[in-house]
Amino acid sequence: MGLNLVMLGPPGAGKGTQADAFARERGIPRISTGDMLREAVHAGTPIGLAARERMDAGLLVSDDVMIAIVDERLDRPDTRAGFVLDGFPRTVTQAEALDRMIDGRSPLMVLEIVVPTDVLVRRVRGRRVCDRCGANAKPGDASFCPSCGGPFVQRSDDSEDVVRERLRIYERDTRPLVAYYRSRPTFRALDGDRPPDVVARAIREAVAAAADAAREAGRPS
Ligand code: ADP
Ligand code: ZN
Repeated sequence: MGLNLVMLGPPGAGKGTQADAFARERGIPRISTGDMLREAVHAGTPIGLAARERMDAGLLVSDDVMIAIVDERLDRPDTRAGFVLDGFPRTVTQAEALDRMIDGRSPLMVLEIVVPTDVLVRRVRGRRVCDRCGANAKPGDASFCPSCGGPFVQRSDDSEDVVRERLRIYERDTRPLVAYYRSRPTFRALDGDRPPDVVARAIREAVAAAADAAREAGRPS
């Protein structure tokens, strides 16, 4: 049975870092739609060209485009053992499409990482990411990425006003996903305003509890 996990949370919640660590630990792919779009922008593909302006303004890329990208990605055989989705779904339309895409696979587990807004703004404004591989710089890091050697830069959408716009869009379009998923036994919310290793431990526990709940729910009564 695959481990199909969605990480929900606003910009700066730590989804990317945690999704990456968790996926490595379990040997399943992390699917980050933000990274996929940034690669498309870098490569200058038609999707990248269309997405760039919206991303730089803090707006969402259209549901049609995002659903097509993820649908194609989830068709690849490496997702059979499971996956961690980071950045998708971001709208109820995307969540409904995802439910259809994984019909017949293991139930989705959904984790919401909760962090107060003032902490988010501070984190995102201060963050530097590798221009080549997208890794986040850690506090002690110098100007270059220790894993790939690429330069650390500020993401073009991490300026204060764009961050605030992204948070506004999150509240408006993505927050409703909590209501969409909350009644499922496989949904868990956790406090992301703690050190990364503490959050990582909470994620492992939440996934274990959600997996138990899924088994429980799947058992004939
Ligand atoms: P963050 O979670 O820090 O806001 P991401 O790297 O996940 O950043 O996404 C960056 C940008 O890419 C978003 O602001 C949005 O423009 C676009 N994007 C990524 N995933 C989606 C999605 N599922 N639907 C619409 N737009 C998306
Ligand atoms: Zn790098």
